[in-house]
Amino acid sequence: MCLQKEYLQHQSLYKQVILLSNPRIKVSWVQAHAGNIGNERADQLAKDATQHGQPYSHTKLPKPHIKGLLRKRMLEEWQTSWKNGDTGRKIYNIMPSVSLRPTNWIREDVIFFSQHGPFPAYLKRFHLSNSDYCSCGGIGTALHYATECIDTLSSHMRKPAPNFEQEWLKRVANNLVSRQKICGIIKFISENIDLFRPP
Ligand SMILES: [Zn+2]
Repeated sequence: MCLQKEYLQHQSLYKQVILLSNPRIKVSWVQAHAGNIGNERADQLAKDATQHGQPYSHTKLPKPHIKGLLRKRMLEEWQTSWKNGDTGRKIYNIMPSVSLRPTNWIREDVIFFSQHGPFPAYLKRFHLSNSDYCSCGGIGTALHYATECIDTLSSHMRKPAPNFEQEWLKRVANNLVSRQKICGIIKFISENIDLFRPP
């Protein structure tokens, strides 16, 4: 039961990271926090197991060992749920493995790679706008701004071949120069949102 609760807590924290769109929240903070909670809860679970004898049968084992077992078990359950989940799939394609270590993603990375941000296609999808068109006439997806919109020309990257979008996103996510371009694009769109609205 404890593990079930623990895993739900982690799942929820992970979703928070994925769905993050509040400019005042730093991603690194949430993930670092997830790690701390993982440690604190593993400590607590280990303490319960040694003091009360239940629900685990490893009570003769030293506490750090039990703690290690619990952490391993939590991560396995979290990994299974992340693998089989139906939300956050865009992030899953880039980061298939769960981890309590903080990522080096900043807010702009989360917005771009989750594609949840000030993009006309996203706003339309969530009924926050009537049109998914960019002011340039193209469909305003995250990829549009990274590769083809005339208003973000100076930060463009080469467009992925059809059906290679996932590989392209993975490569971009692992390349610091590309990530800097992404950061510039997202900041520019966020600060000039009216420029990108459909006429
Ligand atoms: Zn455009």
